[in-house]
Amino acid sequence: MIPFVDLKAQYLSIKDEIDTAVLKVLESTQFVLGSEVKALEQEFAAYCNAEFGIAVNTGTSALHLALLAAGVGSGDEVITVPFTFVATAAAICYTGATPVFVDIDPVTYTIDVNKIESAITERTKAILPVHLYGQPADMEPIMEIARRHGLTVVEDAAQAHGAAYKGKRVGSIGDIGCFSFYPGKNLGAYGEGGMIVTNNPEYTHTMQMLRDWGQEKRYHHVLKGYNYRMDGIQGAILRVKLRYIEEWTEARRTHAAQYNYLLAKSGLNTPVALAHNRHVYHVYAVRTTQREWLQQQLNAQGIQTGIHYPIPVHLQPAYADLGYQPGDFPHSELAAREVLSLPMYAELSSAQVNQVAQTLQNILQGVAA
Ligand SMILES: *Cc1c(COP(=O)(O)O)cnc(C)c1O
Repeated sequence: MIPFVDLKAQYLSIKDEIDTAVLKVLESTQFVLGSEVKALEQEFAAYCNAEFGIAVNTGTSALHLALLAAGVGSGDEVITVPFTFVATAAAICYTGATPVFVDIDPVTYTIDVNKIESAITERTKAILPVHLYGQPADMEPIMEIARRHGLTVVEDAAQAHGAAYKGKRVGSIGDIGCFSFYPGKNLGAYGEGGMIVTNNPEYTHTMQMLRDWGQEKRYHHVLKGYNYRMDGIQGAILRVKLRYIEEWTEARRTHAAQYNYLLAKSGLNTPVALAHNRHVYHVYAVRTTQREWLQQQLNAQGIQTGIHYPIPVHLQPAYADLGYQPGDFPHSELAAREVLSLPMYAELSSAQVNQVAQTLQNILQGVAA
């Protein structure tokens, strides 16, 4: 069996370091924030080429606080894509603002920059591009449009730790960048976690207060805040794992190149990474009109796959009140019907990648394996 992800394999590869780091936190009793979390903030910000890091409890909280720091609130609009994980849109709604969707580019699955300007109104406060699957959105035109209209850019980099656009690490290209450390992400905690990075000291101060009950100092609540603090144990674990992220990312990129090569003549559409992007392959998604059938056949032969994501946010029942209809975002809707994510994690062996590709070819050629 080849699983879609294998968190155990990664843990076993660094078990001694992780166990030592966790025990150290237990001994220190710095269970919430504390010195490990503070060190992680500095190290992760440096990794993103950003000045400040603010550790939080989830990627969703990171997005929520970034939008609040940018001044987004009730009555405002934030431009984003419907082809994303639901958290992107949910975080906008938490602030009281309204998500305004723009379709994706069908090749990269990131926001179609040619459709942003016509979505801007007097209420627009921010643009929230998503670096979906680990491929950076087209940030140069996004920043240019944002500057021209006085908008803040918040990057949803939850799937894109270490990805780069024209040589710049994601998270530090826009005004604020948001990351998730959900266990299955490229850099995953052993529980929940998230991080915000920025070069802006005022945003930093605001977000540091908001994640900890809006306190300027203990029991002095200057803002209506939240309990969005990171656990000390997660900070210590993530510091260990951050030392391996480049190695793991290169392994993902090697697996993707091998899949691309082996599937070139399969008839499937393989992912397209633009030349100026460093794609970090959180997800390796192929495209096929026979998705359900192919997924079943692979499953029957012991190969697990995923679908990211089967229903775009504008067609989710929870967001029906936004008033969108089927057909509003054709590229997002077609991608949602056709994408299929193949097994992808650093610890996959080249033999396993080969087996996945071979099984796919056999199925597509109607040959029983
Ligand atoms: C995972 C994810 C989030 C949310 O992160 P959590 O840590 O699960 O809250 C937000 N946006 C995208 C694109 C994601 O993939």
